[in-house]
Amino acid sequence: MREYKIVVLGSGGVGKSCLTVQFVQGIYVETYDPTIEDSYRKQIEIDDKVIDLEILDTAGVQQFTAMRELYIKSGKGFLLVYSVDDPNSLKELERIREQVLRIKDNSNMPIVLVGNKSDLVETRKLTPQDGIEKAANWNCSFYETSALNKSNVDNVFVNVVEQIIRR
Ligand code: GDP
Ligand code: MG
Repeated sequence: MREYKIVVLGSGGVGKSCLTVQFVQGIYVETYDPTIEDSYRKQIEIDDKVIDLEILDTAGVQQFTAMRELYIKSGKGFLLVYSVDDPNSLKELERIREQVLRIKDNSNMPIVLVGNKSDLVETRKLTPQDGIEKAANWNCSFYETSALNKSNVDNVFVNVVEQIIRR
């Protein structure tokens, strides 16, 4: 059986935990302890193959802990999450991505850029085009998601696994 580690990264409050729990458990948790860094397991099937995922939902990215460095080292795919109502959270991903590239010592690995909270209409400050341009720059995939509406949540995880398998 294949087993892959996926690491979910991004600023606090962008919805990393909500996305992870929505994908793994199929529920929307309105308030999730922002300090909890935990890993989850889920089996998915792609091309008739059963794949075991271990997903690390990170917390507090101000500095990378030794545990996180280890996870990133063994991580096969990365979700870089921002929130469409928070331009700073997209900006912050530049630094996070650079740290990942440094730890992996590889500039060509499976990454999905994720613009979460796509359900927000009034408070949205970033357009889909902002994400598309950044992803083109980084040569990675891009989706807008809503953990609240379960929009595109499965797709980001499936996409990162497909990228891993295709390499
Ligand atoms: P994390 O710090 O990145 O793990 O963020 P959380 O997953 O804890 O989410 C922070 C808050 O954002 C949650 O309390 C939710 O209320 C809200 N949130 C998360 N995902 C969504 C979403 O897709 N849409 C909306 N409107 N709010 C969301
Ligand atoms: Mg969290």
